[in-house]
Amino acid sequence: MRRLHVDLGERSYPIIIGEGIRERMPEFLAEHRIHPNHKLLIVSDASVAKFHLQPLVDALHGAAYDVTSHVVPSGEQSKSLDHLEQIVTTALEAGLNRHSVIIALGGGVVGDLAGFAAASYMRGIRFVQMPTTILAHDSSVGGKVGVNHRLAKNIIGAFHQPEFVCFDTAMLATLPEREIRAGLSEVIKHGLIWDESFVAWCEDHVEQLLSLESEAIAHALYEGCKVKAEVVSQDEREGGLRMILNLGHTIGHALEAVSSYHELEHGEAISIGMVGSAKLAIRLGYDPLIYTTTKRVLQAFGLPIRIPAHYDRDRIMSAMMHDKKFKDGKMVFVVPVAIGKVEIRHDIEAAWIEEIIEELKQEA
Ligand code: NAD
Repeated sequence: MRRLHVDLGERSYPIIIGEGIRERMPEFLAEHRIHPNHKLLIVSDASVAKFHLQPLVDALHGAAYDVTSHVVPSGEQSKSLDHLEQIVTTALEAGLNRHSVIIALGGGVVGDLAGFAAASYMRGIRFVQMPTTILAHDSSVGGKVGVNHRLAKNIIGAFHQPEFVCFDTAMLATLPEREIRAGLSEVIKHGLIWDESFVAWCEDHVEQLLSLESEAIAHALYEGCKVKAEVVSQDEREGGLRMILNLGHTIGHALEAVSSYHELEHGEAISIGMVGSAKLAIRLGYDPLIYTTTKRVLQAFGLPIRIPAHYDRDRIMSAMMHDKKFKDGKMVFVVPVAIGKVEIRHDIEAAWIEEIIEELKQEA
């Protein structure tokens, strides 16, 4: 079992990573002064609940916890105000009070939704993240929680840090293969922004990671969470440094929007976006090795590096214009300046990005 510390003063918390550790939830809850007299509400989604809800409920019942469950449909559409309201209804009916605790059992969708329910119920109650996807090593750390609006993703939300993160790697075994690859894209991102040697390690462990070999996946999640925790510790509310976590996200979010969040997984869109950022680095005069390495590593994991031919450049550009990463008519971009090091640039011309999008459609 590995433990990491997210250093945020009085809001600090541990990330616990290990195989089979959900059995130990009663012990972790007690460590955080969450006792059987505190009601628990587990929020999960249908695909996760099918495999992983009952064993968790059993473990908690075994330690005399009072547990209620709320299951939402799987998928991004559950990150909505409607589903938030339904969770609040369940919480009220179950008698949750200010001392109660919400447990988010699922991927980034459940983490964001249940976390926001915890941030807003009775003006904020405690919550625990139990991530079940690889991508959620990213979303479960850092305290950004929220839901989507019909017109914009993640636009209604809060910063609300969990009490702790319990990452049981055994739960990853039921993940569809595509979700494994897409999640690893964010793991690689953490290396690309912060730690060159971790990128090399990922490239040396492609097979072990794709097959979820226990030690390899635990190490990758630990290193990915470590980068996120360090960045968040220095900039909890995205005043500056935290923006580096958005490597690949300006193009990636636009691609997700153009695909109406159906065709491309988040991690796949970010993969293409990271190749675009590496192309931008070359244009700005940085070492072409940044581009070749980024592309090689992502391809080794079977991640996409090309924008599908039917995606319209102008629609991608206009989706970017609606994104939040804009200042004074110039685009704000996270640019890799070496493998393991990025800079935030505020001077990126839209015309350069248009050209890069065209190039990304031809990428091979
Ligand atoms: P997700 O939660 O939708 O999970 C992906 C799919 O896998 C879903 O169908 C889910 O039901 C299924 N699934 C999850 N765990 C499973 C398991 N163990 N076995 C079988 N199936 C399982 O998506 P995600 O990729 O985990 O997260 C994406 C979301 O995260 C987006 O909404 C994004 O905005 C958000 N996000 C948030 C942050 C943040 O800082 N808060 C950061 C990155 C992403």
